[in-house]
Amino acid sequence: MKTALVTGGSRGIGRATALLLAQHGYQVAVNYRQREEAAAEVVSLIQQQGGKAFSVQADISDEQQVVAMFRSLDQQGAVLSALVNNAGILFQQTSVAQLNAERINRVFATNVTGTFLCCREAVKRMSFQYGGQGGAIVNVSSAAARSGAPHEYVDYAASKGAVDTLTRGLALEVAAQGIRVNAVRPGLIYTDMHADGGEADRVNRIAPTLPMQRGGEPDEIANAILWLLSEAASYVTGTFIDAAGGR
Ligand code: NAP
Repeated sequence: MKTALVTGGSRGIGRATALLLAQHGYQVAVNYRQREEAAAEVVSLIQQQGGKAFSVQADISDEQQVVAMFRSLDQQGAVLSALVNNAGILFQQTSVAQLNAERINRVFATNVTGTFLCCREAVKRMSFQYGGQGGAIVNVSSAAARSGAPHEYVDYAASKGAVDTLTRGLALEVAAQGIRVNAVRPGLIYTDMHADGGEADRVNRIAPTLPMQRGGEPDEIANAILWLLSEAASYVTGTFIDAAGGR
């Protein structure tokens, strides 16, 4: 059975992705940082639907925890064929003039370093060079990488710009090793993340200004991720799907 690891699989886009991948025959490793109950609920929902899943705690910004998470998958005999680097954070909306190093480093530690570390561990397991059977990685970037998110969170936007560059560079490094690497750049999606920015209702405020005049649902991102991971996308690597309602 193919195994998919979804980082930040306990809530929002990660949760929707974990549920959808399970429906499409993946055994899903549901990673979470702190909300154990939310991750357990995703696992239980998958099992109720006849799928296979387990939860795995790790803060992806911590190298030792990332290494331990991948080792625990190995110990369960899971052959990793898909990785979704979905975990990401942002903080209170503000301007660059108000940012400090501590916050910038925290955002980058999870969104950039954490994504790099998970990519590294996955490559070591998937790459032909390391005796693997190939696989696919999807990074969850953001439309913010293109917009810059001025007066909201330029630090977050810049971290997603780095994720885009990682996607491109790694895709080219491992293209001949049986691994495809792509990214999805969601626009405004209804999740709890906006509350972390201090504006829980942000999607509804901005939605009327979007070409499609509505926010997106986590499922609409999960479907793009599913496709990029699937054999239907077998000749697609190093590229991006903008799922942002036309923005
Ligand atoms: P969310 O609802 O806030 O959920 C975040 C998830 O990431 C949770 O499962 C959380 O785990 C996990 N997480 C956070 N930091 C982590 C860490 N250091 N290690 C492991 N897990 C961690 O977020 P979301 O809106 O679904 O966003 C998912 C991804 O989509 C992010 O990369 C985000 O940047 C991107 N995105 C979102 C939107 C949007 O409009 N929502 C738009 C563009 C891009 P716990 O539950 O344990 O806290």
